Amino acid sequence: MSIRFDGRTAIVTGAGAGLGRAYALALAARGARVVVNDLGVGRDGAGGSSEAAERVVAEIRAAGGEAIADGADVSDETAVEAMVARALARFERVDALICNAGILRDKSFGKMTLADFRAVLDVHLTGAFVCCKAVWETMRAQGYGRILLTSSGVGLYGNFGQANYAAAKAGMIGLMHALHIEGKKHDIRVNALAPTAATRMTEGLLPPDALALMAPETITPGVLYLVSERAPSRFIMGAGAGAFARALILETQGTHLSGAALTPEGVEAAFGRIADPAGALAFNDTYEQTERYVRAAAAARGES
Ligand code: NAD
Repeated sequence: MSIRFDGRTAIVTGAGAGLGRAYALALAARGARVVVNDLGVGRDGAGGSSEAAERVVAEIRAAGGEAIADGADVSDETAVEAMVARALARFERVDALICNAGILRDKSFGKMTLADFRAVLDVHLTGAFVCCKAVWETMRAQGYGRILLTSSGVGLYGNFGQANYAAAKAGMIGLMHALHIEGKKHDIRVNALAPTAATRMTEGLLPPDALALMAPETITPGVLYLVSERAPSRFIMGAGAGAFARALILETQGTHLSGAALTPEGVEAAFGRIADPAGALAFNDTYEQTERYVRAAAAARGES
């Protein structure tokens, strides 16, 4: 069965350009009513104009789709609440939210200022919080919601000169876990995407022959699946150039230490076992991890 969004409303932030624009166009082409949000800023967050969002809305309408433009700064709670209110007034529902807006302030850590750190966290992480918050009650009341948070390989694996961006993008993973756990009884499914694509964000960073293979449209199918009715939840999808994969957070079997071994030297001696990835586990929440540790301690004391 084909994946469609007829009767569904999707908000895509930062959809005036790059990846967000591709998502908005593809959602509208499959029947979604789309709120095209974009502050219209430069790569570093400077400036601002409603033109980018309006251009994408014009493209959607020209293709026979339905969309409205919105110029809210995703980190501005009042503006985002107003955006959601407009979406509800016009379309009555908000079914999907794609938190995609982003900026860069790359600098080596020695040169990075607190202002550079805050600016990037504000747009990516606080912006995602603000947007999720603004749609949460609507999704709960509907008993339906799909949220896609944009992480990055930088947040999962790191990169030189991007401490602010890495922290913000890793934060998306924590937010995904928490919202997945809190949203699941209301059929709110929350996933994260680590895309890599040719946009102005990656201009000059990758060789032209690689960028030629990395159009945003090679990522869009994964995004549409992750916000569809049949979406999984708590899935971290890596996507780029038509490749799709899952990033996992696992914990090794590890070991339990007690008595004379419960020392730094004991940890050093057991380090091979602690680090051994064979049989690594995924936990559903933090209590599963705690429970496992406590069970091992109780077993070691003969209390199991
Ligand atoms: P882009 O710069 O082309 O698009 C980002 C859009 O966000 C811009 O149109 C910008 O105006 C908008 N924006 C910025 N701040 C905003 C704010 N406060 N409120 C509303 N809109 C705002 O970048 P892109 O490459 O399309 O990136 C999209 C997302 O994907 C970002 O979150 C980015 O971090 C992430 N990402 C991209 C890549 C990549 O390879 N391009 C890799 C990993 C993650």
